[in-house]
Amino acid sequence: MVFLDRDGTLNERVEGYVDRPDDLRMLPGAAAAVRRLNDSGARVVLVTNQRGLATGRLTPEAWLAVSARLEEELAREGAVLDHVEMCPHADGQCDCRKPLDGLFRRALALAPWAEPSRCAGVGDMPSDVTPADGLGMRTLLLGTDVDDLASAVDLLLR
Ligand SMILES: [Mg+2]
Ligand SMILES: [Zn+2]
Repeated sequence: MVFLDRDGTLNERVEGYVDRPDDLRMLPGAAAAVRRLNDSGARVVLVTNQRGLATGRLTPEAWLAVSARLEEELAREGAVLDHVEMCPHADGQCDCRKPLDGLFRRALALAPWAEPSRCAGVGDMPSDVTPADGLGMRTLLLGTDVDDLASAVDLLLR
């Protein structure tokens, strides 16, 4: 199972929140990289913090609309997310906001066959890989360990 961050990993990071579907711009090669994971048989899990839902900067409708666009953009390349775990909470209000590991643990609980040591976490921020590392997963930090998601998938599938 491969745990992917969203902004800065699949799509471009923007100032503030991606709150309109048209603001979601896929990073080059990201959707194709997800399809390669799909083709390999690995489950792909999106793990994303969306604190804007707690502060009111992001409405539930906007989250759903942007999520739908993400699925469309992935589908264009034949890629799918097998599962999504999202933290809608403010800082310090939960056990799931990354760098805490609740999103990862929830997904693992739904996939008891998944060995953490055979899973990986990929993201563009240390807070994306901290929880994966803590659970014993392999981690790849974009911009540090590898350039982008395509390179990360090259390594994971090697
Ligand atoms: Mg990110
Ligand atoms: Zn949370």
